[in-house]
Amino acid sequence: MATGDLAVARSVDALRQAVASWRARRERVGLVPTMGAIHAGHLALVHAAHGGCERVVASLFVNPKQFAPTEDFAAYPRSEAADLAAFGTAGVDLVFIPTVDAMYPPGFATSIEVGGVSEGLDGAHRPGHFAGVATVVAKLLLQCLPDAAYFGEKDYQQLMVVRRLARDLDIPVRIEGVATVRETDGLALSSRNAYLSPAERRTAPLLYRVLCDSAAALAQDPDSVAATLERGITRLRAGGFAVDYLELRDAADLTPMARLAGPARLLAAARIGRTRLIDNIQVAGRS
Ligand code: AMP
Repeated sequence: MATGDLAVARSVDALRQAVASWRARRERVGLVPTMGAIHAGHLALVHAAHGGCERVVASLFVNPKQFAPTEDFAAYPRSEAADLAAFGTAGVDLVFIPTVDAMYPPGFATSIEVGGVSEGLDGAHRPGHFAGVATVVAKLLLQCLPDAAYFGEKDYQQLMVVRRLARDLDIPVRIEGVATVRETDGLALSSRNAYLSPAERRTAPLLYRVLCDSAAALAQDPDSVAATLERGITRLRAGGFAVDYLELRDAADLTPMARLAGPARLLAAARIGRTRLIDNIQVAGRS
């Protein structure tokens, strides 16, 4: 099945056949897993994959296992035709679109729990989320067996979970992180931004501003972590957000940092109306 130069595989067999034909020609394969509603953030991953691989596979799968029953699985934006067009224009070679039944056939009983980096932050606020992510990513990596797989820093904790997973299970793939793509006002691109009303959209960039201002304050005074985070949370609340967390963590293993010492990440999750936004930035601490 092909859409112009873009092939579509709806079964694991079709995916493996395509990958095997490229491998036979010694072409490297990059995988870009997505849940669709494709935007420039996803396309930055495709671009990075083209930088390291001759062939690029993107997957489109809204993974029910990473949504809690109260979350937006049913409402999550789905736009297969537009997504295929965007991937085609970006030069993706193959789009893998499995059905929920093919991924999780009757009797499916395996769940992958990654300890350590999954704990706290979104792991605390979205119980079961990272087990759902780890399970589907492990499956996608094993179905495709790419040379490299590309994930956004936008979902920084997810990136750390995937790195740990690949290392711990000896999955022979390089996990590459790609910098967050933002709107000109700083809002990180996200499929969920489509939920924002015009008024909420005007509020949304405050999340990134608070991250930037907090990072600057921490760089000035590495001992001001508690006060800086408290100030940031107060500012977000005053701006209309319900704050799930604003935390400073070690950039490599995500352990909490009471004092800025060495490479760190400032991570936030906050809700405006019915939309939950997450974002994070690097904080350069002196070791
Ligand atoms: P999603 O479709 O939201 O599951 O995202 C698929 C991949 O795209 C994940 O690795 C995300 O981290 C990445 N991604 C989403 N938004 C952005 C963004 N604004 N910049 C960079 N990568 C992103």
